[in-house]
Amino acid sequence: MRADLAVVGGGVVGMSCAWAAAEAGMSVALVDPSPGSGASGVAAGMLAPATESQFTEAELSKANVASLAMWPLFAERLERRSRSEVGLRTEGTLVVAAGPPDRPVVEQARTFLAETGFAVIRLSSRELRAMEPSLSSAAGAFAVPGDLQVDNRALLSALQAALAESGVVTVRSKVAALEWRDGAVVGATTLGGTSVEAATVLLAAGAWSTGIGQLPAPLPLRPVKGHILRLEGDPAKPLLSHTVRAVVSGRACYLVPRADGSVVVGATMEDRGFDGRLMAGAVGDLLEDARTLVPALGETALAEASVGFRPGSPDNAPLVGRWHADGLLVACGHHRNGILLAPLTADAILATLEGSEPPPAAAAFDPSRPAVAAVRRKVASPPPSPVAGAGRNTDREMSVG
Ligand SMILES: Cc1cc2nc3c(=O)[nH]c(=O)nc-3n(C[C@H](O)[C@H](O)[C@H](O)COP(=O)(O)OP(=O)(O)OC[C@H]3O[C@@H](n4cnc5c(N)ncnc54)[C@H](O)[C@@H]3O)c2cc1C
Repeated sequence: MRADLAVVGGGVVGMSCAWAAAEAGMSVALVDPSPGSGASGVAAGMLAPATESQFTEAELSKANVASLAMWPLFAERLERRSRSEVGLRTEGTLVVAAGPPDRPVVEQARTFLAETGFAVIRLSSRELRAMEPSLSSAAGAFAVPGDLQVDNRALLSALQAALAESGVVTVRSKVAALEWRDGAVVGATTLGGTSVEAATVLLAAGAWSTGIGQLPAPLPLRPVKGHILRLEGDPAKPLLSHTVRAVVSGRACYLVPRADGSVVVGATMEDRGFDGRLMAGAVGDLLEDARTLVPALGETALAEASVGFRPGSPDNAPLVGRWHADGLLVACGHHRNGILLAPLTADAILATLEGSEPPPAAAAFDPSRPAVAAVRRKVASPPPSPVAGAGRNTDREMSVG
């Protein structure tokens, strides 16, 4: 098989890039044994540059904001192409301190976001109750009206449908290695020995990108494990309408409501390599915090508990662009914000494929930036296992402040 572009990996990033290239008239093959089965399938789907904003990640934050601005049009085009809905929601985020000890963290976050230029609105207890009657009383809260959210699973189904409509060929196999000729990458070989030849190979296999054979240079990525839950709900009587991000006794927790009444509860952040085990402590803590915030969630069914692996990079920004060889591009390392950053990533890859400059907003994605080069030099001689030592790691996915 031969194509203009071979995309290795069919998560939100690989599929968004494949779709953009196909819509621009290129022939595209996407190789993945099970598209949508990686981090993209377990994610919460928050499109939240504000509440993901960190003091140390100013450049990444600009990219997050720029990609958020692209989302409404991206969703509209995708829905039209796929003839399906992606569940983009615009109610925004509420940030809540569950108890008095949590108030300083939330207040600090509000000040930081306001100073950074995000729209934030302080809420009284009465205003919070009016917006979300199911929430327990809180010690402090503010609203972030600009954050969006999308149903990540509906999004992945829509992307698969759009790929088929746009003529992308999906090869359901695992890629073993890159193929080389005369010093350039010219394709990818599957585990079964099938060769997919292409003028350009785009490596977009999330946290698994490091395991592809014959890379010209090691990719400095690590899997960041996340536990996440899905609680059933009644679409006629949804418990929440906004995304709620909270601090509960010092632990971060988020609740993301879906159109079917279900609520996504997340998420842990753990450096434990590819340890896919569901840990009782992590699930128990998430349930406890969810019930503290919305007691009625204790009456719902636990539909799913799952684990995903965020592709973490040295500075938490993705690597998008040429990777040390002619014919090879990468789009990986999107860590906590791969769903949010999919439209901007696809734009940056399309620009590179067409020989133009990537959008300025994607400056943080440059794979030759110093933060990546420094760690790449170190991973060339492998370090000891990055797996954390014994004990629970209760870090949570909440970045405000
Ligand atoms: C618990 C959790 C919550 C999250 N919440 C959010 C959120 O609210 N908002 C947000 O923006 N982001 C969120 N993220 C982050 C987001 O999910 C990731 O950044 C994003 O999904 C990365 O997408 P990807 O396409 O790079 O990788 P993945 O989705 O992991 O896809 C990689 C694909 O590569 C394929 N693959 C692997 N090896 C091979 C191979 N050898 N050959 C071919 N294919 C291969 C896999 O089958 C998979 O389909 C969350 C992540 C987790 C874990």
